Formats: sequence, C-alpha cells, structure tokens
Amino acid sequence: MEKITMKTPLVEIDGDEMTRILWKMIKDELLEPFVELNTEYYDLGLLHRKETDDAVTVDAANAIKKYGVGVKCATITPNAARKKEYDLDRLFPSPNATLRSMLDGTVFRTPILVKGIDPCVISWKKPITIARHAYGDIYKNTEMVIPGKGTVKLVYEAEDGTVTEQIVHTFKEPGIVQGIHNLDRSIVSFARSCFTYALNAHEDLWFAAKDTISKTYDGHFRDIFEKIYEEEFKDAFEEAGLSYFYTLTDDAVARIMKSEGGIIWACKNYEGDIFSDMLSSAFGSLAMMTSVLVSPDGYFEYEAAHGTVQRHYYKHLKGEETSTNSVATIFAWTGALRKRGELDGNGELMHFADLLEKATLGTIEKGIMTGDLLRLSTLENTRKVSSAEFIQEVRKELESYL
Ligand code: NAP
Ligand code: MG
Repeated sequence: MEKITMKTPLVEIDGDEMTRILWKMIKDELLEPFVELNTEYYDLGLLHRKETDDAVTVDAANAIKKYGVGVKCATITPNAARKKEYDLDRLFPSPNATLRSMLDGTVFRTPILVKGIDPCVISWKKPITIARHAYGDIYKNTEMVIPGKGTVKLVYEAEDGTVTEQIVHTFKEPGIVQGIHNLDRSIVSFARSCFTYALNAHEDLWFAAKDTISKTYDGHFRDIFEKIYEEEFKDAFEEAGLSYFYTLTDDAVARIMKSEGGIIWACKNYEGDIFSDMLSSAFGSLAMMTSVLVSPDGYFEYEAAHGTVQRHYYKHLKGEETSTNSVATIFAWTGALRKRGELDGNGELMHFADLLEKATLGTIEKGIMTGDLLRLSTLENTRKVSSAEFIQEVRKELESYL
C-alpha cells in the first residue's frame, strides 16, 4: 500500500513520562507505516520546557494558530515535587493553561464507548459530552494569604479615573482571599462553540452554573448564553428539533444521573475539569475519553484527557512491563488527522483515521485490552496485554482492514 500523504503540517506537541513512551509507539506502529506524516514538532517534555524557559509552549500555541490543527501528548504540570525532580528554577504554568489562554475556546470531552465496558450509571445508553470553558476563573486567579486583621477590597479603576470599590471581607483573624475574572468575549465564544457543536452533533445542550449563589458572576454567564441563543441559534435549534436550557449545576448533576445520555453539558472551567473526570470514570476509564479544544477562531487542539501516568512510567523505567491504555492518545491522533483531512479535502486521511479508531475498538471488543479495562470488562474471553502488545494488536487489526 502506498503511504497517504498530507498537504498541510499538523502541529505535533510531544509530552512527558508514560504518555511520551506511548506517543512514540503509536507513531512507529500505527501511523508512520501508513501515513507520510507531515508534522511540525514541538517538544513540551519538561526538560525541553526547562531549556527554553517555557518559550516552546508559546511557540507551539502560535504554530496551532498558523496551521489550524494540533495534537498534544500529556505533559507534567510542575509542582513543588517536580521542581525538585527536574531541578527547575521556577514553576512553569500548566502547558494546557498556556495553550488554552492563547487559543481561547472550549474543551469538548466525550467518552469512547465500547462493547463489554458498561457505564456504571445503568440509564446511560449514549455518550455524554462535557463542554468545558477553557478560559479564566480559578485557572487565572490571584490569591493571597491574609495573615491577620484588616480589610480586603475589590477595586476597579476605570481608564477615566473613576473608582468603584466593594469590601470583600473585613478580617478579624487570619484567612485567605482569591480574585478571579472572565471576559465577555471569551464567554460569548464559549456559548457560540457550544451551540455550534450541539447542532453538528445533533444533541441537546444544557448549560449549568450556580447563579443562585453567584448572582452577578454566574448570572452573567447565564445571560450571555441566553442572548446568543435567542439572537443566533434559536431558529436552527427549533428546526433541528433540539433543545437548549440553563439550569443550576446541582440540578444538572441530579438530572444527568437519570438521563440516557446523548447530551452536551456545558460547564464553567472548574466544573468542567471535575465533571469530565467523573464522567470518564463512570463510563469506564480516564483513558477512554476524547478531548478537543475548539477555539472561536477555528483552531483545534486534540489531546488525551488523562495525565502522564507517572506511576506506570516509574515501573517502565525499572524495566518492568506496563499495561497502560493508549486509546485516548490514539484517538487524539485520529481526531487531529481527521480534522486535518477535512480542512485539506484529504478524504484518504479521514478514512485512515476512521479505520484506526475502528481497529482500536475492534481489538478491545475481541477481548484484548490493557489492565484498566480488563477490570471492567463484561466480555467472556479477555486477555490482558502490555502497553506495547496492545498497540501491536491494533496494528494487526488495522492491517486486516487494509
Ligand atoms: P494521570 O496521569 O491521569 O493518572 C492517574 C491514574 O489514573 C494513574 O495512576 C492510573 O491509575 C490511571 N490512568 C490514567 N491514565 C491511564 C492510562 N492511559 N492507562 C491506564 N491507567 C491510567 O494523573 P496524575 O497521576 O494525577 O498526574 C500525572 C502527571 O500528569 C502530573 O504531573 C500532572 O501534572 C499531569 N497531567 C497532565 C494532564 C495533561 O497534560 N492533559 C492532565 C492531567 C494531569 P493506576 O496507577 O491505578 O494504574
Ligand atoms: Mg483534570
């Protein structure tokens, strides 16, 4: 078979630890034998971020702005322990936070359903997609420890010199305080990408926040969603027979447990972080979830929703066999290749992405899977395989289709 060629480069963002090991295996076994990969490579492994004082992360985001589509491996977000481990001068921000704040937009996370792995909520028959706002709130906060008595105020100095002040709290004892913000422009694009995604997926959209408590901040999100819906999307939703509604986060949590799925659930940044992990775990595994950042300017960044699987990496370093699930990382590649194909009018590339996904799920449905799935599978004849064996089995399955 002749290798499939690519017109425009795909932005390839390498990462850390076990996922970096999987990344190379996936390229060697599942991509390069079939596709003449045309990628522009950025190494966001923590060592290279250290060498470039994190400039490589900004370069990678700019490359996505240039070419439109990127695929990213999981990366370490440094904390105190990592600072010591990698001898860092400073704690770099999370690469995802840098990418998301430069590209703006919404992260859509959808579980990957496969025969033999049943969601633990028995009413769920279809995937539930979390649409996570990717800008601001506590991810761009300012925090302070308050050592003792004193007053904390919110002060807004307008450009014309007018000052608006509010007391946050008059401390009589030590405590803590935090300031967060968001931007109308970002919330508007969050709303637009959710409505557009729901129409494309032909699924209902829920947006939930806590406007009973956060009357101004969350209320503002609610009002912007309502306005964008009424002005730009209502007709299309009605025509498609779809619905949109706003509700309280606690109500959404209660309702989702009774729903049969097939819904897009739009969440603010923090709720999206939490509920996407809850959903992926309830649907099976963190490694069985796709994640894509859709920016309002039409850029796409595909990744796995899980981290670098550190514990498995340390085993790997000791020469022990690991059984790490590569499905989410494979699907990050297929998502990105399919989107690249779509934008370039490259049907062959899109078809390849479909086949690779089919081969991945087909392998699991034959009973061949990594340890995390084996624990959950209801299939009768299952076999636990190593990280490398799983990818080789997917390759065999893929070759049988070609
Ligand atoms: P994690 O890497 O997602 O792993 C947490 C646990 O979940 C693992 O120890 C493993 O459980 C299980 N797991 C996750 N992915 C798996 C897979 N593909 N196959 C099998 N099991 C899987 O989260 P973490 O340990 O909290 O974080 C590790 C590093 O990743 C941190 O430095 C963090 O900053 C980074 N991180 C990066 C991203 C990102 O780049 N998108 C996201 C989250 C975290 P068992 O050990 O029980 O097998
Ligand atoms: Mg998270």
